[in-house]
Amino acid sequence: MKGNIREIKLYGDPVLRKKAQPVTGFDDDLRQLVADMFETMEDAYGAGLAAPQIGVLERVYVVNIYGEPDEEGEREKIGQLALINPEIVEREGRQQTLEGCLSIPGLRFDGVDRADTVTVRYQDLNGEFHEITGNGYLAQALQHEQDHLDGILYLDRLKPGERKAFMDEHRLEIAKMQRLAKKRLKRAAD
Ligand code: ZN
Repeated sequence: MKGNIREIKLYGDPVLRKKAQPVTGFDDDLRQLVADMFETMEDAYGAGLAAPQIGVLERVYVVNIYGEPDEEGEREKIGQLALINPEIVEREGRQQTLEGCLSIPGLRFDGVDRADTVTVRYQDLNGEFHEITGNGYLAQALQHEQDHLDGILYLDRLKPGERKAFMDEHRLEIAKMQRLAKKRLKRAAD
């Protein structure tokens, strides 16, 4: 199924703060949604994308799977995965991650506190159940995208002092994003 590039919702759009609902129909609409999400993620050079980021409040996200980093630290993409109704069933260890988000473009924070290894139980496009265990970078992506389904952004995972310093430092960029998000909402409502 050919995917379409969808508009990525920006920080300030209330849809990013809402809880997504479980998927019940494993049909062509779901296949189209997932195809659109892969296309949109690819177009934006993202490592993961959750349905609320394109304004769809369903429990679906997609992630790229990367190989081990080479000498330059570059990771080659070796696959991609769509997770429907995902649930983190196990967490282990700790890691500090460098994170950005397609809904908060241009900004990144180094030092988000995450589990080092997670196991996620999810359904595929046919409704079959699977489990995936990832560590390091994949574990980071799974936790980041899982949070989006509950209206949580990586900024919410910073310690209060860190978050305040980050928001102060990037006050102008964040205000600009919020203005653009508002403008788009208004345009959509007109
Ligand atoms: Zn994100």
